[in-house]
Amino acid sequence: MPLLQLQTVLAEMGLKKFRAKQIYDWLYQKSVFDFAQMSNLSKTERQLLKETFSVLSAEVRIIRKLDSSDGLTQKVLLELPDGNAIEAVLMHHDYGYSVCVSSQAGCDMHCAFCASGLQGAVRNLTVAEILAQVYVFQMQLQQQNERVSRVVVMGSGEPMLNFDAVFGALQFLHQPDVANIGYRNMTVSTCGIIPGIKKMQGLGLPINLAVSLHAVRNELRTELMPVNQGFPFPDVIAAAEEYAKSSGRQVTYEYILLADINDSDRDAELLAEYLRYKQASVNLIPVNPVPEKGFFRPGAKRIERFLSVLQRHRIPATVRKEMGKDINAACGQLRAAFAKDKQIR
Ligand code: SAH
Repeated sequence: MPLLQLQTVLAEMGLKKFRAKQIYDWLYQKSVFDFAQMSNLSKTERQLLKETFSVLSAEVRIIRKLDSSDGLTQKVLLELPDGNAIEAVLMHHDYGYSVCVSSQAGCDMHCAFCASGLQGAVRNLTVAEILAQVYVFQMQLQQQNERVSRVVVMGSGEPMLNFDAVFGALQFLHQPDVANIGYRNMTVSTCGIIPGIKKMQGLGLPINLAVSLHAVRNELRTELMPVNQGFPFPDVIAAAEEYAKSSGRQVTYEYILLADINDSDRDAELLAEYLRYKQASVNLIPVNPVPEKGFFRPGAKRIERFLSVLQRHRIPATVRKEMGKDINAACGQLRAAFAKDKQIR
């Protein structure tokens, strides 16, 4: 609830307006989600608040918590009050802590290599459910005097199909009395929903845009990402370039490397051609093999070679630093494994 609204509601309940700021401080600065612990409020006020409000972050339950062996990545599987499970990931980079959040429970995009859409119904997450993913980690970092300084919407789900909640959550987190995270430290990744990109441009915020490209031959991309039928990738690149121009932020193109499918020199040449003179960089992602789907990772030499073709054409490109491979940190893999377990039981 926005601060102004909270102030109004509290006033209607007969509480002082300044209580709203105190509650915000407990929730978003101290990560205390239990009204009973808000010690600068009177006992009666605490009781009244408890009866009137619910704090979603207090209601999500961590059902699994996995730490990568290098200690840099932590993945949690969270159970929402309605029984849906979602994943969130904390990554410790040299520049700070990033949280990767899911935007939907499940996904409806049916990308061939992705585990997110393997099971279950899809539903949009609410603003509170997106915030809760940041705050499970914030609560924990607090104890080390650290904080979440970046948010990437790259977990399960397609953010542009849950536009209002995703951007609502990012704008909420941005507020100085909430998480105070700069828009330049936020990234939204889309499979290429053009109306979403345009709407994002309309917001006029310097949030980073990432586009999951993964193939630059039309038939292949449609095979890998059915969304390409409705939104052909050259149009997506054009929309993303428009976004780059209006926001001043370089677009990141994610390109999963799938052995013998999209990893040839010719593919790299084509990719370079499409991105030439664009405000763009490429993030190459050796695929996290999903056993159900039969995709494999190219060898190190092939990856190097693909990268070098891009570099020769002066397309800024990197190979994604791998974090958390040993904890199923790829999209939807933990959730999928969990759902499978549940079926067996
Ligand atoms: N729907 C959005 C955001 C979620 S997916 C999007 O498509 O961008 C986040 C990223 O993980 C996407 O680039 C997606 O293609 C990638 N991804 C999905 N499955 C993967 C896998 N098995 N290995 C590596 N990356 C994967």
